[in-house]
Amino acid sequence: MEHPENSDKYKGLAVNKGIEQPATVNPYLKLHHPPKRRELSVTDYVEGILKGDVTILSRAVTLVESVRPEHQALAQEVIEKCLPYSGNSIRVGISGVPGAGKSTSIDVFGLHVLEQGGKLAVLAIDPSSERSKGSILGDKTRMEKLSVHPKSFIRPSPSAGSLGGVARKTRETIILCEAAGFDKIFVETVGVGQSETAVHSMVDFFLLIQLAGTGDELQGIKRGIMEMADGIVINKADGSNIDKAKLAASHFRNALHLFPAPESGWTPEVLTYSGFYGLGIKEIWDMIYRYIDFVKDNGYFEHRRNEQAKYWMYETINEHLRDSFYNNPAIAAMLEEKERDVLSGNLTSFVAAKQLLDSYFGK
Ligand code: GDP
Repeated sequence: MEHPENSDKYKGLAVNKGIEQPATVNPYLKLHHPPKRRELSVTDYVEGILKGDVTILSRAVTLVESVRPEHQALAQEVIEKCLPYSGNSIRVGISGVPGAGKSTSIDVFGLHVLEQGGKLAVLAIDPSSERSKGSILGDKTRMEKLSVHPKSFIRPSPSAGSLGGVARKTRETIILCEAAGFDKIFVETVGVGQSETAVHSMVDFFLLIQLAGTGDELQGIKRGIMEMADGIVINKADGSNIDKAKLAASHFRNALHLFPAPESGWTPEVLTYSGFYGLGIKEIWDMIYRYIDFVKDNGYFEHRRNEQAKYWMYETINEHLRDSFYNNPAIAAMLEEKERDVLSGNLTSFVAAKQLLDSYFGK
């Protein structure tokens, strides 16, 4: 049917016939492939890292985080070669519940330590995190100033997986960062449970961020986490909250007295501060440096790092055994059946476990 606008009676603009459209907008576009990233050798990685090349460091960390066996093999070689250049840093674990102000605080803590020179890497352990699914953006916006600082390297938590696996990757990333000349390492974790133990096992100082609450703040926090802390800091001590924060600090001090003396010989300190307004930041870092001097003098610093090295040896063994077991096709096939037997009461958990293990070990 004719278009009404083309009728003689129609006085408006006539419809043009138009021209034939080309098949694609730009046929040459398809020919243009983005250059493929060059594969790096172990030597490329190690040399780049030792030069402090952040792009290569990032790629090495990606390798560490990869689940592909060939990447893992390459990563292990790179780590081994970097190991002699690692260790020269102060590693600080920072923990607190969501909303405690970790991001805000790490931003100001980071700027504070960088004012004195050196380089800072901020890593994270968050096995449950959705945020960690490869999105660096999340962390970049969380730490606004630090993320654009030329001497900082921010890396989100390795993506969700078993805590042991996530933690091991972060531990290995520390080695790479240190070899790249980062002399301050922050490892952040969400204060909700076991990930603290993992962080504690890779840092020299464990800082717990707390908030002044309704007076019963001590109830919500697990005794084990408090026992791990080398310093407890009460955030948001600003405005009308100052007195409450001070009161909370004295509650924490009292509570700490009830704990057995820590192995380090150091009595954990409790301070108040405001990350948002930048108040009391210097005092926190003075405390951390005081601690480092103290434990370097009494030998505990070395001792703790040695203990951690031992811990990671066993952790790595455990992780590999677990992976090897669960990834074994014969076991995977049996697991479901045994699980059903246990659920239906036909087998006890222990017998089922023993049968699976016997099968795995070829008995
Ligand atoms: P995170 O979840 O532990 O990383 O906590 P954030 O750093 O995201 O902070 C949570 C909220 O607390 C944000 O709205 C911050 O602006 C606020 N906040 C952080 N530090 C302070 C502080 O020192 N004082 C006050 N009043 N608010 C703060």
